[in-house]
Amino acid sequence: MSTAGQVIRCKAAVAWESGKPLSIEEVEVAPPQKDEVRIKILFTSLCHTDVYFWDAKGQNPLFPRILGHEAGGIVESVGEGVTDLKPGDHVLPIFTGECKECPHCLSEESNMCDLLRINTDRVGMINDGKSRFSLNGKPIYHFLGTSTFSEYTVVHVGQVAKINPHAPLDKVCVLSCGMSTGFGATVNVAKPKKGQSVAIFGLGAVGLAAAEGARVSGASRIIGIDLNPSRFEQAKKFGVTEFVNPKDYNKPVQEVIVEMTGGGVDRSVECTGSIQAMISAFECVHDGWGVAVLVGVPNKDDAFKTHPVNLLNERTLKGTFFGNYKPRSDIPAVVEKYMNKELELDKFITHTVPFSEINKAFELMLAGEGLRCVIRMDA
Ligand code: NAD
Ligand code: ZN
Repeated sequence: MSTAGQVIRCKAAVAWESGKPLSIEEVEVAPPQKDEVRIKILFTSLCHTDVYFWDAKGQNPLFPRILGHEAGGIVESVGEGVTDLKPGDHVLPIFTGECKECPHCLSEESNMCDLLRINTDRVGMINDGKSRFSLNGKPIYHFLGTSTFSEYTVVHVGQVAKINPHAPLDKVCVLSCGMSTGFGATVNVAKPKKGQSVAIFGLGAVGLAAAEGARVSGASRIIGIDLNPSRFEQAKKFGVTEFVNPKDYNKPVQEVIVEMTGGGVDRSVECTGSIQAMISAFECVHDGWGVAVLVGVPNKDDAFKTHPVNLLNERTLKGTFFGNYKPRSDIPAVVEKYMNKELELDKFITHTVPFSEINKAFELMLAGEGLRCVIRMDA
């Protein structure tokens, strides 16, 4: 029996308060409106960005909210005006969108869509500003336009990548944020040349995907920097060749890296969310040509401080969301790279839990254990 046009009752993990375990509730999910799609989520995984907005220490506390933005699912129904997706399509919802019409979408360089770029404070749908989720008649906020910690969610069509239906959703779900972000930050933004050195700050899933980008680009040295020494063994499998723990030195880590490399690395990619690491990542690149790329999501009051001479000396500082990929135009081809064995994803998935144990995924990330924890919605 078709559920199109009907309200769906299903399970969702609701964050009621900052830092408190999510609770699985039965929520109502309204049908998709104009330019919207309702998706049955099959697999979702936890990214550190969800954790920042859950503990809300450095971010605006907006509750009750359904978090989650890294996921894979199947279209259940589509709203008015949606022509390029239909029920049954396999999709990845993406936290930043592509309207295909604005100057950014028409530019080859940008993925910062005017209509659908990441907006962490938006709690409703663009069409009417309202939530499609409710519990006992009260609205529950959306997160990043995706809210994938729910068996069903409603997403703007511009935030949905249609992918190969043969791609295993339990694996390619990690391309919906972390792996595309890290890999793209290196290959699309830092763009190391063959034989160059690359420093990666933060060896979680995003950082190791950035390292993978450095490896396929033919980097000669891949230097991994992390405060958690248990990351180093794991990172060897991702082609990281040298390790630096800032805690082992009594001087700033950028000085250590400049000494190790005789003047600085050619490229660096920051994947930590720590403002200190962002500054180090910039100051450790070689003068004359070094490029640093910021990926980590900062706290809302952070400020980046460096001496302007570091820029005058011809270092470049960049930043990127989603590795500069346009979600609808580019991600289907990234999925194909996985299907053709040009990109490994399985090694990023270190844990799997049933939906009922979603809080375990948070515990693992807070403990710095593992890379991606995939949450199975059917279990
Ligand atoms: P993670 O927690 O799995 O990994 C982060 C790693 O950074 C950890 O191993 C941690 O020990 C390390 N770290 C923290 N502070 C450090 C410091 N000062 N120096 C060195 N290492 C440090 O997180 P993740 O899911 O891999 O995400 C990484 C970052 O990327 C987060 O800030 C996340 O919000 C951000 N992110 C950004 C985008 C984007 O589009 N720009 C997309 C996804 C995630
Ligand atoms: Zn993410």
